[in-house]
Amino acid sequence: MIAEILCVGTELLMGQVLNTNARYLARGLSALGITHQRQSVVGDNPERLREALQEALRRADVVITSGGLGPTVDDITKRVTAELAGQELVLRPEAEAHVRECFARFGREMTPNNLSQAMFTADSVLLPNPKGTAPGAIVPMDPEGAKFVIHLPGPPRELEPMFAASVAPWLAARSENALRSRYFRLFGIGESDVDDRLGDLERGGNPSLSPYCSLGEVLLRLTAAAPTEAEALALMDPIAQEVRRRLGEFIYDERDDEGGSLEECAIRALRARGWTVATCESLTGGMIADTLVGVPGASEVVKGGLVTYMSVAKTMLAGVPAELIERCNVVSAEVAMAMAQGTRQRLEVDIAVSATGLAGPGGGTPERPVGTVFLGIATAKGVRAIPLHLTGDRPRIRQLTVKHALRALIREAAGA
Ligand code: ATP
Ligand code: MG
Repeated sequence: MIAEILCVGTELLMGQVLNTNARYLARGLSALGITHQRQSVVGDNPERLREALQEALRRADVVITSGGLGPTVDDITKRVTAELAGQELVLRPEAEAHVRECFARFGREMTPNNLSQAMFTADSVLLPNPKGTAPGAIVPMDPEGAKFVIHLPGPPRELEPMFAASVAPWLAARSENALRSRYFRLFGIGESDVDDRLGDLERGGNPSLSPYCSLGEVLLRLTAAAPTEAEALALMDPIAQEVRRRLGEFIYDERDDEGGSLEECAIRALRARGWTVATCESLTGGMIADTLVGVPGASEVVKGGLVTYMSVAKTMLAGVPAELIERCNVVSAEVAMAMAQGTRQRLEVDIAVSATGLAGPGGGTPERPVGTVFLGIATAKGVRAIPLHLTGDRPRIRQLTVKHALRALIREAAGA
């Protein structure tokens, strides 16, 4: 099965809206092991849409469209597709009920053109839209059932759940392959470094290795498609071993699904160890605690936190001697360690993490430039400092500090 993505919308063509739907759909298709060789964008113009659809259907078995399902005159995707299939759009009662219900729920007046959102060809399979008015559809394009157009709504908050709930299972059932994936979460290495180290493996195609980069982190997906699950696993295993061999020091999590953010892993590791944690935060101002508390189940693990932004607060709340701050500088390994130790004692936790540093933009000196950060980690075994040399603007330095702190918690809880 070969699929293509066709995004409809003049706003995409003009660069007013970033085409995140294409990226979302492309990731979804590759996760399903479905061949996907082209994407295109057309404006809200019937002739050009018709041409683009015709061309795509010549190359592909399934064309996924995004956008243009709404009630306005520029929402033309369904009409043009129906014409190509040689069929009429008819009012589908189940879709009409949904549209009417949406209007009733929002207390809005319904105009006759809103019913266009309930019009589909008679043999279309409708896709529920729990987040919006316009249902999606799987539209058969020929009597043999060889070619399909799948209509999805333009707004990402509607398209994404519809794809995940209705389209992905439909595609998986029609695809000839069984699919297995393995996700590696990496921290402390950039995407280009990952590329350098894995470049020769990534060229394979099947199994495929794809890195996705976010701030300070790389998610690496290994996917194999084969006639049976066992064969897919057998294809994947040697590559997974190679990934571990080459990147093991950076991998903080490995699993069969995409989940497993740094904070989830930190909470999981602390809980597995039976540890409670507290934070003492200067430049992050509570962000480390906030990030941990965002994870369900944090209440078993996170005891509390101190926000000690001014030096005097480090002394008052965490008991850091003023003399130490004076002597060593407030941004120093010594102060980070004293913050962690004081917090560990005062909050009576198993592990305390602290952060002090220069987030900028001002305040840097030649020996302590902006981005100089020290983490402190205190446990029953003792205390240590982790120096960081971060780059970027203030928000980035603060966010990276949080991620490094979470990584340190995972290491500490998992180790020894
Ligand atoms: P509606 O019923 O809201 O009109 P629709 O299915 O007709 O939905 P469009 O009118 O094409 O969809 O787009 C609605 C909005 O969705 C756009 O203004 C844009 O913000 C967003 N959108 C559309 N296509 C994309 C895309 N490919 N990527 C990201 N956002 C998109
Ligand atoms: Mg619209």
